[in-house]
Amino acid sequence: MTATVQEVLQFVKENDVKFIRLAFCDLLGRAKNISIMPDELPEAFENGISFDAHAINGFTDITNSDLFLVPDPTTLSVLPWRPQQGRVVRFYCNIKNPDGSVFWGDTRSILRSVLRRGEQMGFSCMVGAECEFYLFKTDDTGEPTTIPFDQGGYLDVAPLDKGENVRREICLCLEEMGIKPESSHHEQGPGQNEIDFKFSDGLSCADNLVTFKQVVKSIAARNGLFASFSPKPLPDRSGSGLHINLSLARNGFNVFRSSEKKDLKEAESFIAGILLKTPEMTAFLNPLPSSYERLGAFEAPKYVSWSPGNRSQLVRIPVATGDKMRMELRSPDPATNPYLAFALVISAGLYGIEYGLPLPDSLNVDLYRADESVTDSLERLPDSLEEALKLAAESEFVRDTLGEKVVERYIQLKQQELQELNRAVNKREHFLEHY
Ligand code: GLN
Ligand code: MG
Ligand code: MG
Ligand code: MG
Repeated sequence: MTATVQEVLQFVKENDVKFIRLAFCDLLGRAKNISIMPDELPEAFENGISFDAHAINGFTDITNSDLFLVPDPTTLSVLPWRPQQGRVVRFYCNIKNPDGSVFWGDTRSILRSVLRRGEQMGFSCMVGAECEFYLFKTDDTGEPTTIPFDQGGYLDVAPLDKGENVRREICLCLEEMGIKPESSHHEQGPGQNEIDFKFSDGLSCADNLVTFKQVVKSIAARNGLFASFSPKPLPDRSGSGLHINLSLARNGFNVFRSSEKKDLKEAESFIAGILLKTPEMTAFLNPLPSSYERLGAFEAPKYVSWSPGNRSQLVRIPVATGDKMRMELRSPDPATNPYLAFALVISAGLYGIEYGLPLPDSLNVDLYRADESVTDSLERLPDSLEEALKLAAESEFVRDTLGEKVVERYIQLKQQELQELNRAVNKREHFLEHY
């Protein structure tokens, strides 16, 4: 929605809005918000609302702990799962330093600047995300378990599929919030589901994904369930992926559908850049230790390769027509910070175009059954979070895209998490509530 500050203030006045949530993500992509009353909103637009940035893991030290949230008026959304008298609305915010400059850890602004770089090269980057999740039962005290809500599998129907009503509620809620759901289904794992919403420009897709996860979690909770975006909540069952679909629009025309040689060359270089850089950005795309249990099984990739129509590979070119023609990156998972993930993936694609990288040959074999003569010649994605963090720490590309400080702090946070996990008794469920 495009809206000016004036229009937003008017909307708040006329629509019985009582609470205004100023939302942002921390470095790990966890949703955060502070609620203000309507009288504070003009001040928020003018100077921002302060918060304790030292209390957000990874942000600032205690000596410089005031940061400001400035709402982006175009992101206004009523939260349909909150009361409709004395409504609650939400804005995504820019995070500012006291002097008004952009805070280095504002991951939304990082994505925005990568998208601007694309625009300077003549492209709008369009993104569509396919987000999978599990629905688990809760116990007698309402705490999450890892007992699946049903025993359904891919595209199963009720009564085997018990998620139909929850998915229905989610789709209707997304629609109310202006996010267009396109399809929904039971996924391969027991209790596993997927809902896909319409692709859009990179920034709104990342915003929508953060909203999506909140909607899913809230509606699951309303139904006495727990929704998990953990990449591998059940051993030996399908993991949850976050496929990222990308296309490039030049003057509103999708380059991926073009028949011009020059356009196709650029689309190929874009894919080549992403293939080249994925191993070093994997720590961001696959942020949990369990992310690495997902890769290499159940249609999640392990090697750096591409092909049309093959779901064992890192990049697939789905069969599609018109504006849906695109590439699909299959390694990311839903525990990622979408702003950082999209920033990295798009930056890698733009790098490919800048350097005119040639697209390597496609490989159309089933990589789960291929023998070693094939797989030995392929580059592998990192085998563990530790290995991925090492690659990220050494990557000039990652540093150039995200900034030195983001990379340094992110790696620190991840090392802390790894230590915490080493001490935990129940490792598999340790981060359950956070993702
Ligand atoms: N769950 C698979 C993954 O982890 C994807 C399976 C599918 O979408 N058909 O990526
Ligand atoms: Mg899908
Ligand atoms: Mg799927
Ligand atoms: Mg897909």
